[in-house]
Amino acid sequence: MKKRLLLINPISSRKISSFNFTPPVSLGVIAALTPQGWDINIVDENIEAINDYNFDLVGITTSTMFINRAYELATVFRERSIPVVMGGCHASAMPNEALQYSDAVVVGDAENVWHSLLDDFENNKLKGIYCNHGSNFDFVSPDMSFFRNKYFLNAIETSRGCHNNCSFCVTRRYRKDYKRKPVDMVIDELKCAESSFVFFIDNNFYGNDDEYLIGLFEEIIKQNIKKSWLTGVSVDFFKNRDLIKLASRSGMKMIFVGFEVDTKISLKDINKKNVFDTDDLFNEYKKIIRSCHKNNVLVISNFMIGLENDTEERILKRVETFKKLNTEICSGVILTPFPNTYIYQKLIKEDRLLYTNFPKDWSKYHYTKSLFKHNNIENKRIEELGIICRDSFNQSMMSFFKALFITKSINGIVLYYYYCTHFANYKNTFIENLLKVYYFFGRVKQREKSN
Ligand code: SF4
Repeated sequence: MKKRLLLINPISSRKISSFNFTPPVSLGVIAALTPQGWDINIVDENIEAINDYNFDLVGITTSTMFINRAYELATVFRERSIPVVMGGCHASAMPNEALQYSDAVVVGDAENVWHSLLDDFENNKLKGIYCNHGSNFDFVSPDMSFFRNKYFLNAIETSRGCHNNCSFCVTRRYRKDYKRKPVDMVIDELKCAESSFVFFIDNNFYGNDDEYLIGLFEEIIKQNIKKSWLTGVSVDFFKNRDLIKLASRSGMKMIFVGFEVDTKISLKDINKKNVFDTDDLFNEYKKIIRSCHKNNVLVISNFMIGLENDTEERILKRVETFKKLNTEICSGVILTPFPNTYIYQKLIKEDRLLYTNFPKDWSKYHYTKSLFKHNNIENKRIEELGIICRDSFNQSMMSFFKALFITKSINGIVLYYYYCTHFANYKNTFIENLLKVYYFFGRVKQREKSN
């Protein structure tokens, strides 16, 4: 009889919805790595509840914000004598903590350790921590069959890691290099994607690798793959102005640009590179936004407040600067020292973290709380400034007209609307109904064609 494996993405919001933006691709990768003799189930708690507890082994992916739910689930299964394995961001950063709630922890990429972990499980000899630092693994394409018809878009990885080293970023904490998935694999995954919309979910899609991206974009165009896609890049993507043109031709509709701050001095505060080596970041950002718009691409920007050397004056100026940049979506968040990042280690060393009753206090690590003794501002005031940031950037009907004008594409607007619904709490029944009608006729047309 086949052994039964359950893979869980713990719930990340209070309500279960029938639709989610992206599938938990890492669980699809684990499913693809698991040998034939296993019966695999995947439950994304954000869209369905767990109602079967009859498994031989359970795997849980983790993030810091929702780690307490992951530990709660692990406890439920272990009380039934079912071994639990944890992996993902938080477990990789805090493996010893995760091991208190599980029987094994995968640190970093699972590709090279999953088979030996399963062997150890079958021999009743799980070893605790399974570690794969670095890039000595081959990518596998995730098994997406578990996610059919449940998500708005397909998520595809083209890389892991990042070439930069920002002090707040979780990307570099367990891998120091950058690894690319071969273009052919990405193209195959794009062809198999059931949705017309794709999210390249890399930490940094750019990766200082113009050649790879040009090859990928040209292949998408050559093979006539009609997907509307979005991704996130570091600012240095725009050093080569041709990339955005080619990206747009291959279907890019939206881009998340990690601007983070507005001055050279604040960039230094977070160890972020000033790729254009200019004091006039505002105009440099403006040029980037203009080149995106010229190529029919919408821009999502973000910025951070509560950096170690921030003053109230600097923060208010930053909010004004980002308002003037006027990107289609903008969010301002409070610097959050996620575990094992450079900033976290520094604050621990200086004994400045305010909430250290872990794991309970990990639930406070969600971008809206000021979590360490600040050099210049009261913590309560930073949180009030955080609310000012959030309230300064809202979507409206006008934003949609502007977005339509920029993208000149219904798919661009659909992507924009669902992104706003999911990440910016925006809902508009009128737009939603229009989009439903558009898609209803689209499907009818498609059915007629295939008959
Ligand atoms: S550029 Fe982005 S992904 Fe890379 S280290 Fe900085 S924040 Fe992280």
